Amino acid sequence: MRIQLNGIDDERFYRPLTHIVELFFEESDMYFESVESPELTITIDIQTDEHQVRTKASGVTETGGYHESSFHEHFTPHMTDKETFKLIKRSVSYVLLTILEDVTGVVQKWGILTGIRPTKLLHKKLQEGKTKEQAHAELREDYKIHDEKIDLMQTIVERQLQVIPDLYQLNKEISIYIGIPFCPTKCAYCTFPAYAINNKYGQVDSFLGGLHYEMREMGRWLKDNNIKITTIYYGGGTPTSITAEEMDLLYEEMYESFPDVSNIREITVEAGRPDTITKEKLEVLNKWNIDRISINPQSYIQETLKAIGRHHTVEETIEKYKLARSMGMTNINMDLIIGLPGEGTKEFQYTLDETKKLMPESLTVHTLSFKRASEMTKNKEKYKVAGRDEIMEMMDLATNWTATHGYVPYYLYRQKNILGNLENVGYSIPGQESLYNIMIMEEQQTILGLGCGASSKFVHPETGKITRFANPKDPKSYNDGYEKYTKDKISLLEDLFGSLKSHN
Ligand code: SF4
Repeated sequence: MRIQLNGIDDERFYRPLTHIVELFFEESDMYFESVESPELTITIDIQTDEHQVRTKASGVTETGGYHESSFHEHFTPHMTDKETFKLIKRSVSYVLLTILEDVTGVVQKWGILTGIRPTKLLHKKLQEGKTKEQAHAELREDYKIHDEKIDLMQTIVERQLQVIPDLYQLNKEISIYIGIPFCPTKCAYCTFPAYAINNKYGQVDSFLGGLHYEMREMGRWLKDNNIKITTIYYGGGTPTSITAEEMDLLYEEMYESFPDVSNIREITVEAGRPDTITKEKLEVLNKWNIDRISINPQSYIQETLKAIGRHHTVEETIEKYKLARSMGMTNINMDLIIGLPGEGTKEFQYTLDETKKLMPESLTVHTLSFKRASEMTKNKEKYKVAGRDEIMEMMDLATNWTATHGYVPYYLYRQKNILGNLENVGYSIPGQESLYNIMIMEEQQTILGLGCGASSKFVHPETGKITRFANPKDPKSYNDGYEKYTKDKISLLEDLFGSLKSHN
């Protein structure tokens, strides 16, 4: 689709508007200047004075169809320049979305929201003191979000506050993410830092050396500054792709270095790939009281696993799940993916039927997204995925199945280029929710990232301002620079929590 967009001079609008267009057309070319024979021409007129913004749009298709849309809102007193800009951006997104919905007949239930964390927006409104009704009205009117999605957000926000009643007060504690960048093989849809472990023997040792160092130094700083840890999450890669002995040493380090580990609310280890799970490793997890693991089938269809490069069998998933259960693991999460290549409602229903035989405590249902860097995206023609309507049907199957089997949704996030512009939803049997997932999504506290590919988010305890810091993705760069990254992060922590001390 060739689209010409007139009237947008401010380049800061280009990206958000392109994202809106991408919700409707998989392949589109956007032009912010005159081009020859566009298939759709949209003209936007933004009028502002010191009181208000009025934005109008008209769209003309090549077949002569004509569509119009408008938006009007008053500025509130004392709005900053940034807030004013955001409102104008919202107005432009709003009129563009309305025109595109009219032209295509496709309805976007998330409205103009293209960000990752819808529930954070609802939390923010509630924290500002708005009533539930006010907040919902704003989501509906300002963002064009449909009631079905607002209800989902509300259910999730309420559930989160039940599970973590002090969620809004946890800004003086932190959570920790530890990234282990190795996997047995690389999956086709993966953009995580994951290196096939077989080829990298030497690097595992040096990587773990760096990680132990980071854990020791960070732990010392946290102890010295009396900062508590709320949750810890080992991700990657697959953290169980290292040996049982290496895992044992790592958790020993955690207990020795970090403050008050026995009172941390939750420690999770991703054991995503069943081909990495052994009796010895489960014994190590038990030894160190690791509460929660994740074993990820993604699908129970063998051909699908093969097509996406997960070199394990369906039987292995079931067998390892049962092994973990028999060894006392009482909080197991499983990840499923809607829309894997070659799969439709029939295959997804089969996966749900198989899940019923296992009944994990929590179930994260992802919708496939075509991330730019993945093998799948680079060779898109090789991977045939279901159409938009079928993806929606699969999502409905997941929603109904989880509700019928006693699961409640407790966190949600969205991604760019996600099939059907849908979402990823974490469901859980009540009381077994992953607290870390809530912390990472709602950004109420600092998450310190250690290890490879781990990104840290420093959330200012008073202003909520977020500063990001990324450790490198590849083990080699990490090994070369971990001392510096540790130092840099400690200085960022000093900035955050130091200001707190001077206020007290
Ligand atoms: S198991 Fe996970 S981290 Fe590893 S390659 Fe597959 S998707 Fe990536």
